[in-house]
Amino acid sequence: MPKPDPQPAPDGRPCGGKGKALFLDRDGTLIRDKGFLSDPAGVELIPGAASALQHAARLGYLIFLVTNQSGVGRGYFSLDDVAAVSGRMLDLMGLPPTVFAGTCVAVETPDQPSLYRKPSPRFVLEMIAKHSLDPHRCYMVGDKASDVLTAVRAGIRPVFVASGRPELEAARRAAGDDLAVFPSIREFAATLA
Ligand SMILES: [Mg+2]
Repeated sequence: MPKPDPQPAPDGRPCGGKGKALFLDRDGTLIRDKGFLSDPAGVELIPGAASALQHAARLGYLIFLVTNQSGVGRGYFSLDDVAAVSGRMLDLMGLPPTVFAGTCVAVETPDQPSLYRKPSPRFVLEMIAKHSLDPHRCYMVGDKASDVLTAVRAGIRPVFVASGRPELEAARRAAGDDLAVFPSIREFAATLA
């Protein structure tokens, strides 16, 4: 008697399989990178970002936000300001905070010791372990070389989007031929299955 096709688990994982996930940069990937943005009124969505998140969630991807916010470490603004900007982003998207399975905000400046500031892979590796994710089905999406390097160091798939302040040459140096390049997260999400 043929075995029935495996049914997806409620979190999108096939039975007995490992999960898939997107790790998303914020500034330049989901919202316009205005440089040290701390005022929620300044939040401007990258076109297609909201539908990209909805599409990925429907396909069963866990979605994580991974953002460097050295403006906090520099004393320009507070962690509450960062949360307010992210909250405004979700309001504009019409999505609940629960769209993110986890958020990593690294507040240190580039010259301060940090366990989590990109290109550290630590948060990605912790989430892979915690949620039993399959690294081959996980993507880090961002507009900076540090996003690409985070993916390379974590052993997941780097995706470069040109919607921010793109550092394409540095990103290519970080990932070589493995780098997937898209105009924005909208075009990348359309390729997900
Ligand atoms: Mg960015």
